[in-house]
Amino acid sequence: MAVNENLRTPIVSVMGHVDHGKTTLLDMIRGSAVAEGEAGAITQHIGATEVPIENIVTKCGDPSLKDRFIVPGLLFIDTPGHHAFTSLRSRGGALADLAIVIVDINEGFMPQTIESLHILKRFKTPFVVVANKIDRIHGWNPNKNSSFLASYNKQSERVKTDLDNKFYDIVGELYNLGFNSERFDRVGDFQRNIGVIPISAVTGEGISDVLMILLGLAQKFLEGSLHYTAKSPGIGTVLEVKEEKGLGTTIDTILYDGTIKKGDIIVVGSLGDPIQTKIRALLKPRPLSEIKAEEKFQQVAEVTAAVGVKISAPNLEGALAGAPVRVVSPETIDAITAEVKSEIADVQIDTDSVGVTIKADTIGSLEALVNELRKEEIPIRKAHVGDVSNRDIVEVSAIEDPFYSVIIGFNVKVLPDAKEKLQTTSEVTLFRNDVIYRLIDDYKDWAKKQKELAE
Ligand code: GDP
Repeated sequence: MAVNENLRTPIVSVMGHVDHGKTTLLDMIRGSAVAEGEAGAITQHIGATEVPIENIVTKCGDPSLKDRFIVPGLLFIDTPGHHAFTSLRSRGGALADLAIVIVDINEGFMPQTIESLHILKRFKTPFVVVANKIDRIHGWNPNKNSSFLASYNKQSERVKTDLDNKFYDIVGELYNLGFNSERFDRVGDFQRNIGVIPISAVTGEGISDVLMILLGLAQKFLEGSLHYTAKSPGIGTVLEVKEEKGLGTTIDTILYDGTIKKGDIIVVGSLGDPIQTKIRALLKPRPLSEIKAEEKFQQVAEVTAAVGVKISAPNLEGALAGAPVRVVSPETIDAITAEVKSEIADVQIDTDSVGVTIKADTIGSLEALVNELRKEEIPIRKAHVGDVSNRDIVEVSAIEDPFYSVIIGFNVKVLPDAKEKLQTTSEVTLFRNDVIYRLIDDYKDWAKKQKELAE
């Protein structure tokens, strides 16, 4: 077996509770890949980092392993968090093909750990769990960048027992959520069991194991979904809409199929009608060795999936993070524009006749919020993408049931006229946060208090 040229690089997302080490892990993956740069240079993309398979197998100390794998490497989305995971969509569902759920081994499961696992279950995304911060276990003797087992075997019996106990607490938590799991080196069947890898994102212990297991998961579960046609018109997802000096509004995009070229006409999802525009420039980060103060980017003529690229084009102001980006031709422009429009507008969320009103910044995050509210059996009257507007306030202020004259906003702003209106409208209660479980907890606490007051 060898790398299969018809398969693109799998896209990986890092999820988990705040402070459990997502950013540090991504930094470590980037940094260690740079340090091992002799094998195959790591490439920095816009919004993502690609670790080629050569680096991974070299890091594991056995370059011949390369022949065992069929994917060219792994592309890590640089934005951590489950919000990124749910917001960034592809036609098939989540943009990320694989995920890492990180949990602090000393702290155990926290609300965002659980939320991440629920989301992965729903999307049926293959993932590994990493039990991070093993270097914080009392008496741990660190072994920089070594594999987990090599390091574990060097620890005292007491430290090993301490790690084992904490580790099996995590296995127990996973079991309570309906997942069978086992330490990664003991998992016989990844179809039935989730591999858990003890690591330290600071010392690098266990990182090579994480990369190897991800390659293995891609091999086992993704062969059918990573097929792409390099020469077909590009299809991607907007990661971020950004103002850049001298370029105006640009969109950082992950391309997951086909090719995109300078001069191509693209259709980009927005809250109103989709944007149709022509690519002025395609930009990638400049290699580290060439960075000049003003020039962060270099222009390229074309890029092929899977890749992160910045697109500069006129009229991108209304582009929506998480929305589709499609290369079109005169023959396909109408049909694809209609498709993109319906993808954004028809978030077919079944709403109830009475219930709370919710707003979120992207289609994906709206869906995630709806799912979590449903789990709590909180009815939803209306679910929309976009900031909180004057109209929302007016509508909600007319609701008679005090439990539901509520707006729950996830990662959204309150528009200026809505802000004014809110100050004079005491009937409407607004909850806003960028963490779903906090929003839901806040609403539940409030509803409980309202109930007590009413009694
Ligand atoms: P995030 O919120 O999940 O992105 O978490 P961060 O990556 O920002 O990490 C939160 C804190 O934990 C930071 O102070 C990190 O330096 C620290 N941290 C992360 N991973 C480790 C680890 O493996 N060992 C130790 N000792 N500290 C860590």
